[in-house]
Amino acid sequence: MLSNKGSQIRPSSTLAIDAKAKQMQVDGIDVVGFGAGEPDFDTPDHIKEAAIKAIEEGFTKYTPASGVLQLKEAICRKLEEDNGLHYESDQIVISNGAKHSLMNVFQAILNPGEEVIIPAPYWISYSEMVKMADGIPVIVKPHKENNLKVVLEQLEAAVTPRTKAIIINSPSNPSGMLYHREELQEIAEFAVRHNLFVVSDEIYEKLIYGDEEHVSIASLGQDIYERTIVVNGVSKSYSMTGWRIGYTASSREVAKLMGNIQSHATSNPNSIAQRAAIAALTGPQEPLKVMKEAFNERRIYMYNRIKAMPYLELLEPKGAFYVFVDVSALFGKSCRGETIRSAADLARLLLEQVQVAVVPCEDFAYETHIRLSYAISMENIRKGLDRLEAFLKEIE
Ligand SMILES: *Cc1c(COP(=O)(O)O)cnc(C)c1O
Repeated sequence: MLSNKGSQIRPSSTLAIDAKAKQMQVDGIDVVGFGAGEPDFDTPDHIKEAAIKAIEEGFTKYTPASGVLQLKEAICRKLEEDNGLHYESDQIVISNGAKHSLMNVFQAILNPGEEVIIPAPYWISYSEMVKMADGIPVIVKPHKENNLKVVLEQLEAAVTPRTKAIIINSPSNPSGMLYHREELQEIAEFAVRHNLFVVSDEIYEKLIYGDEEHVSIASLGQDIYERTIVVNGVSKSYSMTGWRIGYTASSREVAKLMGNIQSHATSNPNSIAQRAAIAALTGPQEPLKVMKEAFNERRIYMYNRIKAMPYLELLEPKGAFYVFVDVSALFGKSCRGETIRSAADLARLLLEQVQVAVVPCEDFAYETHIRLSYAISMENIRKGLDRLEAFLKEIE
């Protein structure tokens, strides 16, 4: 008999789609993969050089479990300059990616049966990580008219005496939506009123377009600062997904527990990658601007083209690198004799019939939607959207 808890954990469907598309490519099939969950740019050279130097200098041993002081200090400076947040280095815990940081957070704050409010659509790992920490995910789905964002009345309706925390992910994966200052203010007051932790996943903070700005909920007052755990990392902003460096900023109490937990689970994050992350945070920020410009161009192109296609509905994404498309108008229709009954059906047909990989969003709590990433080249975006358009012409 294997573990009951382990058996309840769903595999990551985004990684599964990506793997299937990559396998088709290996088999010589010309697939356009919109499943990517990572920037398609190379890690900037100055960051790679810092890592090479770390190896040459022999910086290849265990570091303190929660990370090296120099990186913690660089993170404190970043939080001060970018987010107006003041932290000391003993409030920072560096982990093996922001995903690992989140895992530590739930291990540190949850007792069995405690609930975590997760606004939908949500990044698929949140609910599974809460379950792994013996907590209960409580999914709150926005009303259609509220642009994929939850509102206060819904949160008030979801809260119970067992609610321990709420997760905020702005900009959001998969929706690309941002919570604005006034909306965050309301959520902050809600969290303080009910004595909740706020887990604020700000991993896409640097990928915000137009004249929108990022606001960290922790910056909205002392009360909310004390109960927020800011989660961030270098993966998405600096195109460093494979290096595995994420971090949290929190109260000393929470940081201490997370550090203790991590010290037994994994010990320190990779020493070489920590040096690379220092270079990312303290070095030139121009490469980031170049990536953001490219993402923005693709975002606008994709939004405009999909908006013009029949059956598909979407909101303009404001951040991250995804478009989140309502495909429910296709349900009940068919293509080449196959009926589309769900987003999963559609994703399968797109892959089989026109070799386009998209992510069906059942696991993001949105069975009416698919997610397409624009972290792929403009050439591939064009080709993929041409195929999608051709597919839709055959719908009857
Ligand atoms: C990619 C992603 C993360 C995790 O990033 P790491 O590579 O583990 O640092 C966390 N949250 C969201 C919403 C993401 O999309």
